[in-house]
Amino acid sequence: MRLLIALVALFCLSGPVLAAEADDRPVTILVSIDGFRADYLDRGVTPNLVALAARGATGPMRPSFPTKTFPNHYTLVTGLRPDRHGIVGNSMIDPRRPGQMFTIGDAKQALDPFWWDEAEPLWITAEKAGMRTATAFWPGSEVPFGGVRPHDWLRFDYNITNRQRIDIVLDWIRRPSANRPAFVTLYFDTVDTAGHKYGPDSDELNAAIAEVDARIGDLVAGLAAMDREANLVIVSDHGMQAVSADRVVQLDELIDSASYIPVVTGSYAAIEPVTGTDSRVADALLGHHDHMQCYRREDLPARLAYGKNPRVAAIMCLADAGWSIVSGPQKYAPDGGAHGYDNADPDMLALFIASGPAFRKGAHLPMFDNVDVAPLLRAVLGLPQLETLDGHLADLEPALAR
Ligand code: AMP
Ligand code: ZN
Ligand code: ZN
Repeated sequence: MRLLIALVALFCLSGPVLAAEADDRPVTILVSIDGFRADYLDRGVTPNLVALAARGATGPMRPSFPTKTFPNHYTLVTGLRPDRHGIVGNSMIDPRRPGQMFTIGDAKQALDPFWWDEAEPLWITAEKAGMRTATAFWPGSEVPFGGVRPHDWLRFDYNITNRQRIDIVLDWIRRPSANRPAFVTLYFDTVDTAGHKYGPDSDELNAAIAEVDARIGDLVAGLAAMDREANLVIVSDHGMQAVSADRVVQLDELIDSASYIPVVTGSYAAIEPVTGTDSRVADALLGHHDHMQCYRREDLPARLAYGKNPRVAAIMCLADAGWSIVSGPQKYAPDGGAHGYDNADPDMLALFIASGPAFRKGAHLPMFDNVDVAPLLRAVLGLPQLETLDGHLADLEPALAR
C-alpha cells in the first residue's frame, strides 16, 4: 500500500514534468528520396537540401549490395546487410517456400511477414520501447512484426502525391503530444522513377529532383510554422547509372532458358538452376564473360557481404557498370537508368544529410556504409545500441552534436 501511495505521489509529481519534456522533444523524421545519387546534390537544383546539409552533417553513403530499393531500405532501418536481414532482393525465392517468389509488385507475397521477420525494423524497436511511430511509406512498414505495427502507417500508393505525403507527416506532427509520433518515416519514389525512365543525365530527372527538393522545403517551413523542432535524416537507398539497349548481355546465348529460373535480371542476374540441370547451368555461366562475371553464391567477393542467406540464388552474375543482363525476349529495351550494381561503384553512392538539434553543424563526413544509419538513429531516439548489428555508431559519431 505504502509503495502504491509512493508511486501515485511520484506520478503526480513527475507527470506534468514528463509531459512537458515529451512535448518539447524533437521529432525524428527519416526521409528517403529513392534513387537520389550522392552527386545530385551538386547540380544546383536542390537549394533546400543544400541548406539543410550546410546546417547539419553530410557525406557520401555507400549502399549495400544488391543496390536495390527493398534490400537497402530494410538495411537503413535494421543496421544489417541484406544477407542478414533477409530482404536479399526486390525479387527473391526461399527454399522453405518452393514454387513461390517474392516480388515488390505482388502484394500477397510482399505483405507476408514471413519475408520480413529475419530482422526487427526501428519503428518496431521504438514502439516496443513505448515510443509512438508513424510511417508515410517505407518498404516493410506495412507488415506487422511479431504482431506489432507503427501506430500510424499507410499502404504504399504511388498515386499519393509528394505534396500529400508532406501534409500527412505535418498533420501527424501537429497533433497534441499524447498522440504525436516521436519517429516518422517518409518516402519519395519520383526521383528513382524519372532516373529509370529518362536516365541520370536528363532534364526530366533534374525536374524530379527539384520538385522533391521543393517538398523538403515545404516540410521544413511547415515544421517552423508550428515551431516544432525536428531531427531530419534524409537518405537515399542507392544511386543511378545510365544504361542502353546497346549494352546488353543475353543469357540465351549462353544457356537455354528452360534450365534456370531468372529470379532477377538487369544490373545483376540471380539465377536458380532447375533441379537436375545444376552442373550444366554452372558450367555455362560461372566465370568471366564480356561485361559480366558469374559466381556461385558462396564464392562472391567478401566485400559484397552477400551469399550466406538461403534466399540468395545459387548463381549470381554481376554486370559491368552500365550493362544489363537479359533473359529471353525483351518486353522493353533497357534504356534510361538502372541500379543494382556493385556497391563499390561510385554511381551507386547514396545521399545522406542529418540536420537538427541532435546533429553537428557543418560536419563533412568521409564515406561510410549505410548499415551505420540505424545505430545513429538509435542514438538519436535514445534506444540502446546492439553489438550484433553490421553497422556501428562509431563511424557516424562525428555527425552527432556532442
Ligand atoms: P526499384 O527501382 O525496382 O528498386 O524499386 C523502386 C520502386 O519500388 C519505386 O518506384 C516504387 O514504386 C516501388 N516501391 C517503393 N516502396 C514500395 C512499397 N512499400 N511497396 C511496393 N512498391 C514500392
Ligand atoms: Zn530505390
Ligand atoms: Zn529504382
